[in-house]
Amino acid sequence: MSIGFTFSACSFFYILLLTIVFFCKKRLNSVENKIYSYLIITSLCGVVLALTCYFTILNHNTIPIINTIVSKALLIYYLVYLMILTIYIYVISKEVTFDVRNPKYKKILHIWLLISLMVSIFVICLPLEFYNKGNVAYSYGISANLVYLFSGLCIFIWLILMISNYKNLKNKKYLPMFAFILLGSVVMILQKINPGLLLLTSMEAFITFVIYFTIENPDLKMINELNLAKDQAEKANNAKSEFLSNMSHEIRTPLNAIVGFSQVLLEDNIPDSAKDEVKDILMASESLLDIVNGILDISKIESGKLEIVNTEYRPQKIMKELVALTKARLGEKDLDFRVSIDPTMPEYLYGDYVRLKQIILNLLTNAIKYTKEGYVDFKVSTVQQGDICRIITSVEDSGIGIEQSKIDKLFTKFERFDLEKNITIEGTGLGLAITKKLVELMNGKIVVQSVYGEGSRFTVAIDQRIVLNPTKVIDATNEFFVFFDAIGKKILLVDDNKVNLKVASRLLTAYNAEVTEVSSGYEAIEKIRSGNHYDLVLLDDMMPKMSGVETLKKLKEDSNYSIPTVALTANAISGMKEKYIDQGFDDYLSKPIDKNELNRVIRKFLAKK
Ligand code: ADP
Repeated sequence: MSIGFTFSACSFFYILLLTIVFFCKKRLNSVENKIYSYLIITSLCGVVLALTCYFTILNHNTIPIINTIVSKALLIYYLVYLMILTIYIYVISKEVTFDVRNPKYKKILHIWLLISLMVSIFVICLPLEFYNKGNVAYSYGISANLVYLFSGLCIFIWLILMISNYKNLKNKKYLPMFAFILLGSVVMILQKINPGLLLLTSMEAFITFVIYFTIENPDLKMINELNLAKDQAEKANNAKSEFLSNMSHEIRTPLNAIVGFSQVLLEDNIPDSAKDEVKDILMASESLLDIVNGILDISKIESGKLEIVNTEYRPQKIMKELVALTKARLGEKDLDFRVSIDPTMPEYLYGDYVRLKQIILNLLTNAIKYTKEGYVDFKVSTVQQGDICRIITSVEDSGIGIEQSKIDKLFTKFERFDLEKNITIEGTGLGLAITKKLVELMNGKIVVQSVYGEGSRFTVAIDQRIVLNPTKVIDATNEFFVFFDAIGKKILLVDDNKVNLKVASRLLTAYNAEVTEVSSGYEAIEKIRSGNHYDLVLLDDMMPKMSGVETLKKLKEDSNYSIPTVALTANAISGMKEKYIDQGFDDYLSKPIDKNELNRVIRKFLAKK
């Protein structure tokens, strides 16, 4: 047995195995995969032909015409294989840009097919000789030489393609390509020197085999494709988050006018009937604001940008505030609101009280929303171990309840149940989705128990660290509105939006301060630099030409600048307060302006002097 024959026989088995594996496996329907499948089939035909050829030529009884047909078929196989491999390398080198429908690529492919066809015709027509002595049998002559010539041309084209795609060469997947070119050239030279070796078919089968494990492996391709899809999904998600945050900013601006003027109107001497309507406007705006905040929260959670901000706080105060807020939300509903709060709860805890409040308030609000009559039970118990306090909050109601089959979907965003029954109950289906994510972010647990038609119980357990020696407790409770007279104080109000200026200035009239309105950062700088004295600057951030942040930076270039400057902005994503304070602002007010917050800021900066 000659080496050539042994190689061809081995090649037959592994290429057969590869063909079975490749066609049985799930793969992508890409151009590369299609070309590769032709390459595998051609390889398989090639090894079969090589083996047949070996037997026919070696057998002295074979009629010459059969020898010629089989040998020429083998030469045609070489041509076809090289032609397909060249197209494959071309497609790979063009990577993403390749598209068979593109007229430019179509033309190149057609020219290439035409050249290959012409060479094949010559190979068929030109004479071929046979050598057959001992164990060695092969064909040679002009026809065979033409195939060598064609191989040389292919190698040349591959090199050109590689060099012209130099940048892509850094990509590891091109390394095997170099190996093929090298191996192909060496084998071709060896075969030319000693035609009896019959290595060409085995080498081609080997190349097909290696391609499978390096660049064509369907698993690797799937992973690549998945990564691409993941990247695109991430990009789309970021675009969505950006859109949502812009949208929320845009909605907040008109909402600021609605809330602001309604608050002002309530304090004016207007008839009681009108007061009720203004209260309704305020309530409607508040629920609109809740929706906007909910959408922002969910988009932040989904993009992984929601952070838990831990501080020291007084849990008892938080609970009291929650009770007060819930009572206010009960409105005219005749529900028995029962409260039981563990009196042994530590005085100070360390955690994110804003989010804790949001979680519990969501559950309490839902209990009220989905209960027509009966009771709402709010229980807070604690388990203390070492320096950890587990707060176990349970909110139980005698409301409509939730069907068992729906409980799994309860925490999915935008899921709302019993819509026929709840048609009059407002909601977006975001509350519980946010609640669950927040509980998870705080390493807590939430459990739902419900009997349809009878009521539900939501239980949340969250661990918080106990603080024995509090250092900087943030008083969570909104300071209640205590009138503060800022007569004689001067406030500079900067906002490019006229309505916003009007709202803020109207809200500030209650303090009797002297308010100066300007509509850009430039004007603000000019006012301050020209010697006007102010006690407080309320500065909008998102202004055209010069933002609030830039304005403050310019103002602070003067080392004597010491006027307290508060960011007044509709950019209300959580973490913004910290961002503005980092940028040098003294405090932060979000739009729509909350009257209590405004009061806090005014007192903080104007009362201390
Ligand atoms: P929303 O209340 O805005 O619709 P949620 O995410 O808070 O959204 O709640 C999702 C759904 O779960 C509600 O639409 C309601 O069908 C159901 N649900 C939530 N809480 C209760 C409850 N206490 N009793 C009955 N059903 C509830």
